[in-house]
Amino acid sequence: MREIRLHNTLTGRVEPLNPVHPGEVRIYTCGPTVYASAHIGNFRTFVFQDILRRFLRLQGYRVMQVMNVTDVDDRIIHSAAAAGIGIREFTEKYIKAFLEDIDALHIEMPEELVRATDHIDDMVALIEKLQQKGLTYTSDGSIYYRISKFPDYGKLSKIDLTGIQAGARVDVDQYDKENARDFALWKAPKPGEHFWETRIGPGRPGWHIECSAMSMKYLGETLDIHTGGVDLAFPHHENEIAQSEAATGKPFVRMWLHAEHLIIEGQKMSKSLGNFYTLRDLFSKGHKPSTIRFLLLSVPYRRQLNFTEDGLTQARNSVERLRNFVARLKTEQFQAGSNLEVQKRIEQAESEFDAGLANDINTAIALASVFDMVRDVNTSMDRKAFLQQDAPRAIAAMERFDAILSLLADDDDEKLAKLGFSTRKARMPAAEIEALIAERQAAKKSRDFKRADEIRQKLADSGILLEDSKDGTVRWKYK
Ligand SMILES: [Zn+2]
Repeated sequence: MREIRLHNTLTGRVEPLNPVHPGEVRIYTCGPTVYASAHIGNFRTFVFQDILRRFLRLQGYRVMQVMNVTDVDDRIIHSAAAAGIGIREFTEKYIKAFLEDIDALHIEMPEELVRATDHIDDMVALIEKLQQKGLTYTSDGSIYYRISKFPDYGKLSKIDLTGIQAGARVDVDQYDKENARDFALWKAPKPGEHFWETRIGPGRPGWHIECSAMSMKYLGETLDIHTGGVDLAFPHHENEIAQSEAATGKPFVRMWLHAEHLIIEGQKMSKSLGNFYTLRDLFSKGHKPSTIRFLLLSVPYRRQLNFTEDGLTQARNSVERLRNFVARLKTEQFQAGSNLEVQKRIEQAESEFDAGLANDINTAIALASVFDMVRDVNTSMDRKAFLQQDAPRAIAAMERFDAILSLLADDDDEKLAKLGFSTRKARMPAAEIEALIAERQAAKKSRDFKRADEIRQKLADSGILLEDSKDGTVRWKYK
């Protein structure tokens, strides 16, 4: 198996992947908090994880990925109470929307998608373990983790704990490094709030205990990879380590992978600046799912991604280029034979593609290897150096790239229609177009020019452009 190297936040180095169970990689991914629609910054992280798991599988690993859905937290409890409905009912529509969004972006479903509220017992059991080990204390019915009892606290985020007041505590789930404090494992209910009656008292779990309990339940006490956005490293992931390692005495995670921020036109995305986008905001502006997927995956995950209008235009053209290339391979007539040079060129692209991804999932290198090959093969087709038996080889290479990139399937309109964005009429399927082109060729051959013109017009009306080349072959593309 090829060596795969990944940047580990814990050590600050790029290291070879070395899974606990040879041949299998167990990954935990912090999923969405379902109190609103996920924004495109979240999807940047989810697309990265999708590329990672697809690449591991292409390299022959079995992948076991668990993603949580945080369906209980401060914001959910307050919003559900304000709406006068239960939290399950409140979160349902956001979970549904999230699943539709990941489907639109061709993000594969993890092997397990688990809801926090289905695992309250597991969280209670983990908190009891921490209580038995003397790592907790109770105050006003809430249970806190005493960070001074865990000497490794801060090892992931490299936080400086000098000057932190012992016993000072924090009740909210999200806070900055400056506010490192004892954090809540279990929160006593406030009047009117949703709560569970449990062995450790009435209340609800803190956010951090969720991920420790669910990840270890499904993946074992030591995970191979834990991923998330860079903003989760502190306090969330730091607290996950403190909870899990104190409970088991074992390393919790071998490799921590964090995806960098996404910014919009050079600015931080924020509601107050009016540049806060969900996926559906972009769909309603006419952008296609494949365009967004391309843009999100085009920048290596550890670099900040600047999401711009120009970038969207380029992404759209890039996807078209790949699709047109495959269409050309499938429709153009080539002379018999095979060209060893062409085959070597394709092989070179495949090997550069894999090497790029094996080097900390460098998608920029992987994409460059694909587009360089597309350019060179197009040139050899123009020069008639590309032969019949080279076509299946080139198509196989494109399909192999697409096992990772997932951009070739021309299903944007279908995905948009599913989400209610059926603004344009559905495209004619490629098979139907090719059948009409064949019929037109036959009509021309039998000098039925009237029929040939009718077919050309019919295709034009459906938004399909034909290009007749001198050698009599026909290429087509969508307008
Ligand atoms: Zn998490």
